[in-house]
Amino acid sequence: MTKKQIEVWDRCLKVIRDNIPYQSYKTWFEPIVPVKLEENVLTIQVPSQFFYEWLEEHYINLLKKTIKKELGIHGRLEYSVIMDSSSSESRPYSVNYPTTERRATRNKPVIMPIDLNKGKTRDIPNPFIIPGLKKIKVESQLVDSYSFDNFVEGDCNRLARSAGWAISENPGKTAFNPLLVYSNVGLGKTHLVHAIGLQVKNNYPEKTVLYVKTNEFVNQYIDSVRNNNQNDFIHFYQMIDVLIMDDIQFIAGKEKTQDIFFHIFNHLHQNNKQLVLTSDKPPVELKGMEPRLLSRFKWGLAADLQVPDLETRIAILKNKLYKDGIEMPYEVIEYLAYSITTNIREMEGALISILAQSTLNKKAITLELAKQMIDKFVKNTTREISIDFIQKVVCDYFGLPLETINSKTRKREIVQARQLAMFFSKKHTKSSLATIGLHCGNKDHATVLHACRTVNNLVETDKRFRVYVEEIDKKLKL
Ligand code: ADP
Ligand code: MG
Repeated sequence: MTKKQIEVWDRCLKVIRDNIPYQSYKTWFEPIVPVKLEENVLTIQVPSQFFYEWLEEHYINLLKKTIKKELGIHGRLEYSVIMDSSSSESRPYSVNYPTTERRATRNKPVIMPIDLNKGKTRDIPNPFIIPGLKKIKVESQLVDSYSFDNFVEGDCNRLARSAGWAISENPGKTAFNPLLVYSNVGLGKTHLVHAIGLQVKNNYPEKTVLYVKTNEFVNQYIDSVRNNNQNDFIHFYQMIDVLIMDDIQFIAGKEKTQDIFFHIFNHLHQNNKQLVLTSDKPPVELKGMEPRLLSRFKWGLAADLQVPDLETRIAILKNKLYKDGIEMPYEVIEYLAYSITTNIREMEGALISILAQSTLNKKAITLELAKQMIDKFVKNTTREISIDFIQKVVCDYFGLPLETINSKTRKREIVQARQLAMFFSKKHTKSSLATIGLHCGNKDHATVLHACRTVNNLVETDKRFRVYVEEIDKKLKL
């Protein structure tokens, strides 16, 4: 078998590479496979109909020139297009298109295979000349309350927030393209990406911003296949200036949707349009994603949102209350922030339950009410007791101010409280001895180990001490 087509195509590629931006080369030419060379006709295989149209639309002159240079004045190019057959049983198949006669062959049977409406020939619309398309008004789907003003800044979100802010000042023109924000649920991804979109609209009212949940995108794509208007679907997305896709992990394992998204992504990126994505995992841990798509996610910035620290949690609660014009005793806010640590949405949920309870039963919002509510609330969810919470409970139990745990004091009662906090942290959290030490007065792991032994010994030898430990343990597990 002759490999002549490979040599010829390699020489073509060398020329092409020198004539277009590297990114475009990688996107549109690297995936091409030369399959045949017969009588001056080079056949190249391209991954999809869309790919073929794109090449014809954007690179036809370059391609023609290069082919003629390599194969002489009668040299020609043909495409073998891998067709995406929409029924899942049948395998992809290929259709051959000549290049230069493309427009003349538009309505001829050669393009029939992509037509799902049997018997009708379909005029493939030219994707890039659709009259009036630009005039379509896109509703951004943004939620006004998810603004930057309402997004409390903390160490947990500083990088993602400032990257988002930079993007909203200069969409598509920063190094953060795409911006991928990832975290566990309930930590503010959706809020932050809405804030970016809203701020872009403030700064650039003429720009088209679109927020879309990835599962919606998937459904829209499925509908477009069913209705045979995939091109319109693609065009719609390709005219967006700032595309925000929430929960991108939902396209994992959906190859066809990934393929389409890949093309939309490339188009937007090449035209300096902004992409903002969120996912529940860092890119490296996303399973079921095509490598070429994953590699694109890494072009920009991947920034995570972490669990907010206590101060930030309190600030978030205060912000929410202030915004809604509600007053609440500080100790209740503090208690809430102490008790629910790993999920902001849950913390807000508990706050709402407390408010609802107090309104319904016309009870004042007291610490007692908050405790009852949170106990109910937290029991339904899997709560991980935090070191912060343990310290709070231990200090409350002995009537000590919280700060003393982290102080240098060697007073007996405080040393004891500190040791108990360490002991319970070891018992109830997954934190390492070193981490526990760090959070309990900046001690090392050996001190924590010593504390745990001391507490165990005392429990066995000192009756009163044993009661302390049992009572605190009950409070922790309330
Ligand atoms: P995710 O998309 O990560 O699951 P969301 O964006 O839906 O999380 O956030 C959950 C809730 O927490 C929302 O009501 C959001 O407004 C709130 N929230 C999260 N982070 C912050 C923050 N930094 N400041 C204020 N509210 C926040
Ligand atoms: Mg979300």
